[in-house]
Amino acid sequence: MVKIAPSILSADFANLGAEIIKLEKGGADLIHIDVMDGSYVPNISFGMPIIKAIRPYTKLPFDVHLMIQEPSKYIEDFVKAGADLITIHYEAETHIDRALSYIKSFGVKAGVAINPATPVSLLKHLIPLADMILIMTVNPGYGGQKYIEYCTDKVKELKAMISAQGAATLIEVDGGIDISNIKRLREAGTDIFV
Ligand code: ZN
Repeated sequence: MVKIAPSILSADFANLGAEIIKLEKGGADLIHIDVMDGSYVPNISFGMPIIKAIRPYTKLPFDVHLMIQEPSKYIEDFVKAGADLITIHYEAETHIDRALSYIKSFGVKAGVAINPATPVSLLKHLIPLADMILIMTVNPGYGGQKYIEYCTDKVKELKAMISAQGAATLIEVDGGIDISNIKRLREAGTDIFV
C-alpha cells in the first residue's frame, strides 16, 4: 500500500501543533521529520525538543530522518522524544550494521538513507536488517529542490534486490516529489513518498 509522509520542513514553524493536526486530517500516513545538523548537511533544522513538543498532537507514526553525523550517539534521545521509525544515513555512520540493531533494540523501526550519488548496491547486506530504505531524490539539506531523474532507476534496482532476497523492506523516496514523478516512482517500487 502506498503511504504519504509529508515533511514538517515545509510547515509553519510558529504553529507546528496546528500544522500536525492539519496533516492528520488531510490523510497523511506518517509525519516525516527532517533533522539537520549543519555538519552532515549544510543546513540546520531542529532537534529533539521540537519532536517532543509536537508528539501530543497526533497518533500518526513519526518517521524521523536524521541528516546528522554520528547518529548513533543520539538514538536514545530521539526515541524518548517520540520517534517510531529512525532513519540514519549510510554515509554518516561508520558502523551501520551495529547502528541498525541498536535502533531496533529500543523497539522502534530502523531505516537507512542514501544520497543520490551513493549506489544502492552497497545496501545488499543491509536489506534484511532495515525496515525501510530511504532513497534521497535530491541532495539533502534543503526543502524545495528539483527531483534528480536517475533516482527512478535506483528505486527499480533496489526493488529488484529486495524482491530477490524475499525481504519486506519498504522503499521511501524523499525530495522533489510531485505529480510529475510520483506515478513512475510508484511503478518503480516506491512504498512511501515524502
Ligand atoms: Zn527527509
